[in-house]
This record gives sequence, C-alpha cells and structure tokens, in this order.
Amino acid sequence: MPISELPLLTAHELGDLIRSGAVSPDEARAALQERIERVESQVQAFMTVLPPEDSAPSNAQGPLSGVPGALKDNMCTRGVRTTCSSKILHNWVPPYDACVTEKLRDAGMALVGKTNMDEFAMGSSTENSGFHPTHNPWNLKCVPGGSSGGSAAAVAAGEAFFALGSDTGGSIRQPASFCGVVGMKPTYGRVSRYGLVAFASSLDQIGPLTKDVTDCALVMNAIAGHDPRDSTSVPMPVPDYTQSLKSDVKGLRIGKPVEYFGAGTEPAVREAVDRSIDQLAAAGAEVVEVSLPHTEYALPVYYLVAPSECSSNLARFDGVRYGHRTAQDVDMIDMFLKTRDEGFGPEVKRRIMLGTYALSAGYYDAYYLKAGKVRSLIARDFQRAWEKVDILLTPTSPTVAFEIGAKANDPMQMYLSDICTIPVNLAGIPALSLPCGFQDGLPIGLQMIAKPFAEETLLRAAFSYEQMNDWHKQRPRI
Ligand code: GLN
Repeated sequence: MPISELPLLTAHELGDLIRSGAVSPDEARAALQERIERVESQVQAFMTVLPPEDSAPSNAQGPLSGVPGALKDNMCTRGVRTTCSSKILHNWVPPYDACVTEKLRDAGMALVGKTNMDEFAMGSSTENSGFHPTHNPWNLKCVPGGSSGGSAAAVAAGEAFFALGSDTGGSIRQPASFCGVVGMKPTYGRVSRYGLVAFASSLDQIGPLTKDVTDCALVMNAIAGHDPRDSTSVPMPVPDYTQSLKSDVKGLRIGKPVEYFGAGTEPAVREAVDRSIDQLAAAGAEVVEVSLPHTEYALPVYYLVAPSECSSNLARFDGVRYGHRTAQDVDMIDMFLKTRDEGFGPEVKRRIMLGTYALSAGYYDAYYLKAGKVRSLIARDFQRAWEKVDILLTPTSPTVAFEIGAKANDPMQMYLSDICTIPVNLAGIPALSLPCGFQDGLPIGLQMIAKPFAEETLLRAAFSYEQMNDWHKQRPRI
C-alpha cells in the first residue's frame, strides 16, 4: 500500500502494520501530517496540531503503539494548550494530563493534536467554537455535529486514526452520526473524568470516536477503568472489550421505543433505522415495541440540570488564577465582569444565566429540584424497558447534518437535535452510534442503548450489524 493511503486505514489495521514492522510509527505520523496539510484548511477539525516530532509514542509495546490519535480540546494535556474552544482559555497550558491522556499515552498513542468543539461543549454543531467552525468532510457546507465535531470530522477525514470526545447530552454520538463514524458514550463512571474540563458533572462522560466498532473496543480497553481521582468513577474490573466482537445476535431482545420516531424524524432516517432493525431480526434477534413514556420531559429536564451545573462549574473562570484576564484597567469587581464578558461566547453566557436563575433562592425547588425528580422518572422508564429487552435501537439524531448557519440563530431548533441522545445521559447508561445509511450523500446514524455497564452488549450488536453492511467502509471524497 502506498504510504499516502495509510490515513484511510482503521486504527487496528495500522496497529497490525506497525507491529509487523511493515510501517514505522514515524512513517504513519508523516503520512498523517501530509493528509492534514492537504485537507485541514477545508475541514478545520483542529485547534492545535502538534509537530510530528513532538507526538512520539511514549510506549512502544502498547496496544495502540504508534497509532496517531486526537483529543477533544477539553481534555488536559500537559504542556499542550487546552482551550475548550473558548477565548477565556485561549492561552491555557495545563500542568497535568487528564486520566484519559495518561492512559492513551500508556497504550502507546501518538498525540496528533487537540480538536475543535463547541465552546465548553455547549452546542450541537461546533459553530459555537470561539475560534472557527468545523466543516463536515462529507459536505463542507454542512456542520459536523457537536460538540465533539472536531474529533468526529478529524476521524472521518482521515486526519486522526481515532479520537476522544465528551458526551453530556449527545456530543459524541450526534457528531459520530453526522460524520459517518462510530461513537460511544460509556456508562457514567466507566471512564474517569479527571482532567476533563467540567460542563455538567453529573452527565459528562468521555468516549471514543472511531472508524469502526473494532477500534471502538480497542480504545475502550485503553481508557476505561477506576480512577480514585474522580469520585464518581466506578471500581469495577474492565473486561477485554475486543472479546465482544462476535457476530451473533441470536436471541438478542431489541426494543424499538415509539417515542424516538416522532414527527421531526426525517423519513430517510426512519427508513434506515427500520431497515437496520429488520436486518438484525433476520439474523435472529427478537424485536419488541417498547414505550419510554417520560421521553418528552428529557429536553426540559436537561436544560435545567445542565445549565445549573455549568453555571456552578464555570464560576472558576474569573481572570484571577489562569486563563484570560481583561486588559482594561478596572477595579476588582469590574475585572471579573469584563474578563467573563470578553472571554465567554453567547451560548455559554445564555447557559450561565439560565443555570444561575434555576439555582437561585426561591426558584431552586421549582426548577432544579423538580428537574431532578423527573430525571429519576426518565431513568425508571429505561429500567422498566430492561425487563423486556437487552438493547434499544433508535435514530441517533432525527436528521442528517444540516447546513452551517441553518440553526445558528435558533437555539430551540438546535436543542431539538439532541432529542434522542439526551435521555441516555440523564439515565447514566451507555449508548453507541454507528453509520447505517446515507441521505443526499450525508451519513445516517443508528443509536444502540443498553443497561448500565453493558458496553459489551452494544459492541456485540454493533459488530454484528457492521459485518452485515459496509457503511463503515465508505470514506468521504476529500
Ligand atoms: N448539544 C447539547 C448541549 O448543547 C449536548 C452537548 C454535549 O453533549 N456536550 O448541551
């Protein structure tokens, strides 16, 4: 294979070539650099690309040894700036690595760079980046989804062999769906959040964006596991996720939740998901209609819980200890105000205001506390479903990627694009998105949802589905 085609390979294919000695890590990184130089000006997936000489793998024996990967720019990297795509952190260089950064370095990853995102992970299109939008490699006029749009676009465009994203309400799965790659949000507590800049701490979870399901299992092996530095990290042993890569869905009970196929679902999306369910049924799965009756409350609950937690988490960005500080010569109080006014973009300000309101005295019971109670009902819907089924299949997003600018001035429309992903975060359960078709040249995503810590069920079902199709082998022409 010509070296210039290496970037089209999956991480496991490249890993095999490196282990066999057919390709050296330096050759792989150089081929990737050439690719980045060719396509990055169009895609703009990155905030920072490391010079190849700075991205040498730290472990020559690891399972991802020499495989170049990218991290969303809200994961701390010692010595490499971490901006959250926000002007308030434009110059911040963390003095420490996030747990996932350490783990991937231990597994041998060569860090390519840090990817663009919606500012502080608030958004569904990567248009809320404080620096520049990212373009969808399948159609440069369209958004890549968000908030991990840079990570999804980098993997789809062959600018990284895999990437990590973070998912608070869909930010791994929805961009995976829009860019035609595999994205998994693990169970809350499965992957350490230590060194992930917090958005909404009770919902945030880190996970992989990859070209296929095998790569997803490999990256999960590297990043999952207990970490005492994250108090919500769960002390459970990590299985070898590659053991779940079996093509076998016989007897798997699939639920199709009626609420996830509502009026806003594009016909092509509905058809692709229905066809996928039929395929799995033909392979021996049982299909059952189920109902998750509190789904309609997920969006309003999320838009109380997430902004409330964000207003508290983002209080630390005050110009005193790190990050941007206003250059204006003002007194202390005005320094806070000016710094935050200059540093935060409009969506972040909107969330801080919503959250501060919902948490304020006199409103707390009516909003935040109430939202917490309804959140329990949403989680209970899923628990009831698990009495009947092993896995739920839904669209990842009601639509394919939309054009840049189409929803930028309509926050409600933007919020609606997460209708199928948000309930999963509220319930803390794992879910995966994988490509299941195309509409007008744009990828469609199939979402699989499972019970807590059943990532293995997701991988098995997704791997089986992948074996019956070749959606994951399609590459954008860029
Ligand atoms: N789009 C959702 C939001 O804006 C979810 C973002 C995320 O998962 N980080 O809050």
